[in-house]
Amino acid sequence: EAPGKRLGYAIVGLGQFALNQIIPSFSESKSSKLVALVSGNRDKALQVADRYGVDQKNIYDYQSFDRIADNDEIDIVYIILPNALHAEYTVRAFKAGKHVLCEKPMAVTAEECETMIRAGREAGRKLMIAYRAQYEPYNLEAIRMSREGELGKIRLVTSDHGRILDPKVPADQWRMVKALAGGGSLYDIGIYSLQAARYITGEEPVEVSAHISSDASDPRFKEVEDLVAFQLRFPSGTLANLTSSYSTSSVKRFQVFGSKASLVLDPATEYERHQMKVKTEKEERRVQIPEGNQFAAEMDHLSNAVMENREPKTPGEEGLRDVRIMQAVYRAAQEGRPVSL
Ligand code: NDP
Repeated sequence: EAPGKRLGYAIVGLGQFALNQIIPSFSESKSSKLVALVSGNRDKALQVADRYGVDQKNIYDYQSFDRIADNDEIDIVYIILPNALHAEYTVRAFKAGKHVLCEKPMAVTAEECETMIRAGREAGRKLMIAYRAQYEPYNLEAIRMSREGELGKIRLVTSDHGRILDPKVPADQWRMVKALAGGGSLYDIGIYSLQAARYITGEEPVEVSAHISSDASDPRFKEVEDLVAFQLRFPSGTLANLTSSYSTSSVKRFQVFGSKASLVLDPATEYERHQMKVKTEKEERRVQIPEGNQFAAEMDHLSNAVMENREPKTPGEEGLRDVRIMQAVYRAAQEGRPVSL
């Protein structure tokens, strides 16, 4: 490939996250460029196209989406739709011969995830799940320190992700509808607590126990759950104590407790302004490293994986693992007993 080559992205779904985080981040990417838009709202798509220099002929809607097969400018399709639509559009993108970057959670069920993985394999195209924290410098540093033994033996990971679900915000409206969201706070943000436990330890959990608490009289929680507290046991003996919530003020943090030191990243999964501290018996120190645009890094990771024909670091299999574990969290809470994985 020629140096400096950029692969072309089609963004599917022009919602809050696509418009505010992803699309502006192409200006900081090195191997990715925005070339097409897929939206149910043509006026919005025309405005975005005008602002970011996308050719009007590269605007599609959900009906004309499959015609991207005829558009050589599009290499990668980035699915930023409500969770329940991820599987369908991923499969259609593969049928059109494109590579796929898909938002978290990968899909609603493990079966859907397996279908997506199979479709990518059959098409000979790459599938990556947009786990941005795994491309973010502070999280990467926390992973390095944990895995290289700087904290000693890792005994416990705790992580909390919470925010107030607001029915007045359009992006939160589909999140209250089970048929579109698939689940509640666990699927939306608890997945970050789960990811932290898995990428910090580098292990796969063998058992999960869980409690769920939702106020049945609160209209937001008619269909999806509010508060989830769950524990994971890892083969090494490490435990994780994890939560997610839609009814408590914003928190996005994790802590790693080792035999020599503990580490806190708070916020851990913000878009920016991460804060990291490491504490031993003797001292506490702040760890400061340059912030990086995690969205640009994530897209460039997939572009480079495609150009160099490598598997991306967070492939469909990684998304499937989380969906399987989250389904086990629901089962453990429902049955009131630990579930083996
Ligand atoms: P929004 O509601 O803001 O955006 C979703 C977009 O999908 C809509 O704007 C709409 O775009 C399109 N859409 C198509 N069909 C529907 C439908 N039936 N109902 C609602 N929207 C529909 O949500 P978010 O941007 O917050 O979330 C989108 C996805 O991105 C989710 O999977 C979410 O988990 C993920 N996300 C990831 C984040 C991260 O940090 N990695 C952060 C936030 C979200 P249009 O009008 O153009 O058709």
